[in-house]
Amino acid sequence: MFSTEDSEFDRHHLWHPYTSMLNPLPCYPVASAQGCCITLETGQQLVEGMSSWWAAIHGYNHPDLNRALSEQMVKMSHVMFGGLTHRPAVALGRQLLAIVPQGLSKIFLADSGSVSVEVAMKMAMQFWSGGQQRKQKFLTLRGGYHGDTYAAMSVCDPDNSMHSLWKGYLPEHLFVPVPQCAFDHPWQESEADALRAAFAEHHHSLAAVIVEPIVQGAGGMRFYHPQLLKRIRELCDRYDVLLIADEIATGFGRTGKMFACEHAKITPDILCVGKGLTGGTMTLAATITTDRVAKGISNSPAGCFMHGPTFMGNPLACAVATESLKILAKGDWSQQVTRIEQQLKTGLYPLREHKNVNDVRVLGAIGVVECHRPVAMAEIQAFFVNQGVWIRPFGKLIYLMPPYVISEEQLAKLMAAIFNAVEQDALFIPPDSF
Ligand SMILES: *Cc1c(COP(=O)(O)O)cnc(C)c1O
Repeated sequence: MFSTEDSEFDRHHLWHPYTSMLNPLPCYPVASAQGCCITLETGQQLVEGMSSWWAAIHGYNHPDLNRALSEQMVKMSHVMFGGLTHRPAVALGRQLLAIVPQGLSKIFLADSGSVSVEVAMKMAMQFWSGGQQRKQKFLTLRGGYHGDTYAAMSVCDPDNSMHSLWKGYLPEHLFVPVPQCAFDHPWQESEADALRAAFAEHHHSLAAVIVEPIVQGAGGMRFYHPQLLKRIRELCDRYDVLLIADEIATGFGRTGKMFACEHAKITPDILCVGKGLTGGTMTLAATITTDRVAKGISNSPAGCFMHGPTFMGNPLACAVATESLKILAKGDWSQQVTRIEQQLKTGLYPLREHKNVNDVRVLGAIGVVECHRPVAMAEIQAFFVNQGVWIRPFGKLIYLMPPYVISEEQLAKLMAAIFNAVEQDALFIPPDSF
């Protein structure tokens, strides 16, 4: 049992994501999770709408993933990757190269999404380090999210990630406005004007452009037009700037394609994957690049790529990731995501008419209800738990990204809970206080 003392300990000693240590919001103790269901310590069952932040794509406690872990565990949980290698890393590498966009060939196994972004940015800098020009700036879109470590944070949306707090310490990069042209609207060529201008002015100093392809996730849950991504690729080619695609949230089928880059039929120079890579079992990410970039780095003054985490290529993580990719290789994800997309559209679009709702967007297995007002976090969280669902909104956004194996009934229950929530004015911050 999770005792009152356990709760007190948690409250006083354990930091949770983006949480005050003085005035923390309530946390719900979880006993176990199975399929698309989270069981609280109280015995209450919640339908999972978040896939534990994009990660648990196959649902929890998957027998194949568990078997891969336990089989690997009795061989070795970990050995250093410096000077040693192993079958789990090679197997994962092979599986990854079979599915990533054509042209990517060199894999760096990192220990979390943010680290894979650090690695990608460092790769881009090192690639240019032997050249005549100082190409050390990054160009990105406002409204993005790339992680919480410093280099990653420096290319997150400057307001959302409070760049003002780190002024003088955080490197200053270049931003163009949040994309306005939605995924399924007619493309407006003027949408790429700011990018064209930024390239024309700054290309000499640009190491890379870094973007989340198609879906801006934690920075606002926006879906932009594939043509914009195409333009970015063209501009990168024209001005000889690298393109980093951060597919940590979008990778492995979430948007209806294996990778969101496929919506625009482009290959980035550097690709970051994470989150769903191990099916949500444990932390692992990868930064995958081309022969050209790998060669450039290896010929740079340092002579090698300057990075090597202690837990690089962790065999347990590699084994479970390989198994997760094998599940994807069976191909069911594609019908599953299409079915979820249809059900989300049919179920959520009617909310567009609701007085408390500003916009509803659906792409692949992602459904977003953008409200007029920010949610009252503690209240809406308790409300959803009472409804038997796990949905964690942020700001004005109530959104779903369920495991691909969710049933029609479970998804209906998640959407009904959102319908019920938007009815309740008390679950939103009053208009005069935000
Ligand atoms: C979550 C996320 C990250 C950071 O990954 P962590 O594993 O939390 O460090 C980076 N980029 C995107 C697009 C993400 O969604």
